[in-house]
Amino acid sequence: MLNSHVTTSLLQQPASATIRRAFISNSSSSFPSSLARSGPFRFSTSSPSLLRHCSSDSHSSSSNSNSNSNLPKATPSSEKSTWRAMAEKDISQYLRETHDRVFEHNRAWAAEKKKADPEFFSNLSAGQNPEYLWIGCSDSRIPAEQITGLEPGHAFVHRNIANLVCNTDLNVMSVINYAVHHLQVKHIVVCGHYGCGGVKAAMTAKDMGILNPWLRNIRDVYRLHEKELDAIKDEDERYNRLVELNVIEQCNNVVKTAVVQRSFAKNSFPIVHGWVFGFNDGLLRNLEIDFEGMLKDIQKIYNLTDS
Ligand SMILES: [Zn+2]
Repeated sequence: MLNSHVTTSLLQQPASATIRRAFISNSSSSFPSSLARSGPFRFSTSSPSLLRHCSSDSHSSSSNSNSNSNLPKATPSSEKSTWRAMAEKDISQYLRETHDRVFEHNRAWAAEKKKADPEFFSNLSAGQNPEYLWIGCSDSRIPAEQITGLEPGHAFVHRNIANLVCNTDLNVMSVINYAVHHLQVKHIVVCGHYGCGGVKAAMTAKDMGILNPWLRNIRDVYRLHEKELDAIKDEDERYNRLVELNVIEQCNNVVKTAVVQRSFAKNSFPIVHGWVFGFNDGLLRNLEIDFEGMLKDIQKIYNLTDS
């Protein structure tokens, strides 16, 4: 992991956070209430913006849905005016600084690693042998290695909006195939998170253009579990449960792949896990997927092991 100084600096970046939150706030369109609809889906009538949902409310876990004190706050008006003033003054300088800052941190990180272990980079150069394949959301607040204490070389990582595993997505299918067949990972983790903007967007009645086919996968999860979800009256709780069910369905999709089925039959690994990260406490929640039971059920229809 990064040393604490570098980690803190990278994560905090007050000016960057200020401009980002301000931009999100300014770019969010209001959702026309006339497009909202009632009925079983109970779509949100708030802004459908993915970024806005990731940065505003509804980040509580289902186990602690009433504890909102640590949740990210909306952008104070003073921060918005700071950004506006900065943009008028010299936005190009700000962009250069935020770009260069990454390289400064990188040099500090590399020096720290080399100081702690002179062989660190020569060992990295020798190749990778990760134990884990991590499939997570692209959300910037969930860096796989930092929240798990994993070091470079420990996890093969794939991230996309709402941690989806679609069988027509050559990207994720290639990642799974390479990780299982060539790297022989022992664990495949699908990690979602409460407060997921992608999941929230899929609960919103709105034409989202290019995102429609992607978010359709989450709407399909809702349809599969419509009865359970519709029985949850509280919108935030229903949202949190959809996050969990989405993770479980993506685990199912991992198990449906031939490479996972073949490897498990031969090696008894990898094991598939479903986790959810909570912003309110920074903890991972294990959904305790019954991998072998899931595999057995799936192979009634999706058996791809030639047996
Ligand atoms: Zn997300």
